[in-house]
Amino acid sequence: MAEIQASNWIDGKASLPGSDPTKIFDPASGELIGHFQASDSAEVARAVKAAKTSQSHWWALGAQRRTEMLGQVAANLRNLSQSLASIESREMGKPLAMAQEDIEGSADLLEHQISGANDFFAETNSDLGRLVRKPYGVAALITPWNYPVCQVTDVIGALLSAGNTVVVKPSEKAPLSVAALSEVFSCLPPGVVNIVLGNGSTGAALIEHPDVDLVHFTGSVSTGRKVGAAAGGRLIPCFLELGGKDPLVIDEGVDIEWAAEMAVHGSLFNTGQVCTSIERIYVHKKIAESFIAEVVNKASEWTVGPGNDPINKLGPLIDADQRDLIHAQVFEAQLNGAQVLIGGEPIPGPGFFYPPTVVLNPPDDSRLMTEETFGPVITVCVVESFEEGIKRANASSYGLSASALTKNPENIEVASRLNAGAITINGGGTGPEDPPFEPVKASGSGRIFFGPKSLESYTTAYAVNIGEAK
Ligand code: NAD
Repeated sequence: MAEIQASNWIDGKASLPGSDPTKIFDPASGELIGHFQASDSAEVARAVKAAKTSQSHWWALGAQRRTEMLGQVAANLRNLSQSLASIESREMGKPLAMAQEDIEGSADLLEHQISGANDFFAETNSDLGRLVRKPYGVAALITPWNYPVCQVTDVIGALLSAGNTVVVKPSEKAPLSVAALSEVFSCLPPGVVNIVLGNGSTGAALIEHPDVDLVHFTGSVSTGRKVGAAAGGRLIPCFLELGGKDPLVIDEGVDIEWAAEMAVHGSLFNTGQVCTSIERIYVHKKIAESFIAEVVNKASEWTVGPGNDPINKLGPLIDADQRDLIHAQVFEAQLNGAQVLIGGEPIPGPGFFYPPTVVLNPPDDSRLMTEETFGPVITVCVVESFEEGIKRANASSYGLSASALTKNPENIEVASRLNAGAITINGGGTGPEDPPFEPVKASGSGRIFFGPKSLESYTTAYAVNIGEAK
């Protein structure tokens, strides 16, 4: 693949804000794959101005026309999924097929989100309606590197369908695939979507800009605190989708093979670099021995290597810092009495690879159990009872998602007391359509809907009181 020179996309045109390129390397090989130029506050201001100028026109087009245009965005996303996935896989390491599947799934989600816009605005904006919903205006969409394309496309359809215009600021660690999204958005009027590449300062400048009306941030807890404070200082709404330390509690009596598959897939998928990765497993002592043996078996089958070789299920980590952090957590837990059953040592050679690692009984107060790991590490703690597992699962500062496996109807009740934004019992997935997702504790804030109801989140309500004229 030729080196990529990624550009900003402002007012429907590509732009390069400076002459000081930041290089992007393939995390599997260390090879230079592209560069971008970090945007300063003047470049951010140009993007916000374009978004503000186009917003009234975009809103005035009406829900039906916006829906048609966004349908084209979904089609473009599907048509370009292969090339986008190939850039994404190169810049952050995930298996190519998985990247493409994610992007195609995101096109489906976008279509689903925009499908209710006509009805939504017809109901809320009728002439004599007392509650009128309108877009906020210009939205800042700041995203992380672990799903570079989907973190933008999973959200932007709803923001746009609601009548907002958007300035996207992707992660400086994986900006190339997001820059390539300009082709996907080229069917929209200029200024409706703008992309500014850059680091934390670029993101901070965007939130501080007086014409930004809403912030949608996905990233770490530590950055989320800064983003929340900056948005709070400006008194603008802010959605925070942050990190997790998600638990899985496993009861006695469940099928071992099934439980081990859930545990391994949930922990290792995307090399554990998923906000909702399973990072703490509590298993009932009565099935612990056979469960652990099956987890070790299954985890050992996850072949490690570059994402462009279909044989590999586990790509590299994003960078050396991430690999060092994971290893430090595993090593410290081991020093404090945990048993490392497989893995536990970085793989030497080019690229930032870490093997599938299974750690037994890390101390509750170890960083491996209290801080987000974001790596291919499966931690298993043996508990005396299902209740003890639920109690320890809830003893965390995070609350993104949580899951449990049990055949016991009483324990299903107990599991519903898990304290997280999304609770999954026995794999679930059959709840009411489009249930809201609202992270708790340090995992974030703001109610997100994945379907047409997302328009509720991204519009603001006005009361219109009409009295009798005299
Ligand atoms: P990060 O917090 O380091 O960066 C996220 C984004 O914020 C980047 O674009 C970055 O440039 C920007 N940024 C940094 N400082 C900023 C500032 N002061 N103001 C504004 N923007 C700033 O996160 P990351 O390492 O890119 O992503 C990994 C994290 O994201 C993990 O914690 C993961 O759990 C979380 N995540 C959460 C979800 C979710 O839906 N809850 C989804 C994916 C990832």
